[in-house]
Amino acid sequence: MKNFTYLSHARRILFAPGARKALGEELDRLGIMHPLILTTPQQADAVELLAEGLENREWTVFSGAAMHTPVDVTQSALDDLKNCGADGVVSIGGGSTIGLGKALAVRQGLAHVSLPTTYSGSEMTNILGETEAGVKTTRRAPEIRPDTVIYDVELTLGLPLGMSGLSGMNAMAHAVEALYAPDANPITDLMALEAIKVLANALPKLADSPTDMGVRADLFYGSWLCGLCLDSVAMSLHHKICHTLGGSFDLPHAQTHTVMLPHSLAYNAPAIAPVMVRLQDVLGLDPAVALYELSGRLGAPRALADLGMPENGIATAAQMALKSPYANPRPLEEGALRDMLARAWRGEPPQS
Ligand code: NAD
Repeated sequence: MKNFTYLSHARRILFAPGARKALGEELDRLGIMHPLILTTPQQADAVELLAEGLENREWTVFSGAAMHTPVDVTQSALDDLKNCGADGVVSIGGGSTIGLGKALAVRQGLAHVSLPTTYSGSEMTNILGETEAGVKTTRRAPEIRPDTVIYDVELTLGLPLGMSGLSGMNAMAHAVEALYAPDANPITDLMALEAIKVLANALPKLADSPTDMGVRADLFYGSWLCGLCLDSVAMSLHHKICHTLGGSFDLPHAQTHTVMLPHSLAYNAPAIAPVMVRLQDVLGLDPAVALYELSGRLGAPRALADLGMPENGIATAAQMALKSPYANPRPLEEGALRDMLARAWRGEPPQS
């Protein structure tokens, strides 16, 4: 057993079908009399699902949440929040909406109740990424975490099949990288392996049963654990390279994670033999290839070229990955990184 430091973070989690109906009690508990409810324009109707939990109190809606938390959107929401006198925020949606909830809550020192509707895991983390003038900056702080998270599986039944698969693979990436994080501990190991097992088992069932409550609940449970992993330990090559690819070539977030995960795991495999053995128990004999095959079964994109990355971006991305140092089990070598990115660009299986 290696030595470790473990930090636990108390938060209130409700996990049950229909749990959104308890929103009123949770707002009372936090002393929120007038919440600002946040959604994307596409999910503006989701507010109706909260009607029962909002009875007997005033509330205001801001339906302008957008990907990567642009600060001008946050400013508009902040203006609305001040104008209506809201004293807390409620986010209902995916990582984009939750990001806006975090940005508002942390700026104003307000309580935040989050009702996730995707598998991004953002609701469990102390991470806030914000974009200004095309530049995304990310920071961690304890007060960024939502105070209460309500996992109501019924809110995920309408998540389109394609987006569900991508979102699940995005979650899986948090757990895979947690297994070889420099600050991993026995609890994050347990959570990561359980999450990978549950997600790898449930994701392929989605195509036949997209509204099966049991399958959807498993996916929510797995993504909750993945979010806890992301919150608890440092991420390495995979997350850094996805961040670089997203920022430099404007590639979509969950799709980039899905394409890169098998390749970044294969890159690190020679340096993490014990982790690969543990992954074999939950993914099969060749874990990196198993992830590649899983994304194929989900009909997800498998080539960076298909996401719009130019071929000459491979060398640029490899150089950028070397620029900012971070912990990674295998040393970063420009040639090997270029090879990895080239395979991912062409959509080939990972180097076994
Ligand atoms: P998203 O929040 O951008 O949602 C994508 C689209 O799906 C939106 O139009 C949304 O309204 C819609 N949608 C969401 N749930 C739905 C549902 N159940 N039914 C129908 N439509 C639904 O996507 P995402 O992948 O959840 O989040 C991506 C963002 O989250 C990125 O900006 C990423 O950087 C961030 N993120 C942050 C963290 C963190 O810890 N800070 C973690 C993961 C992702």
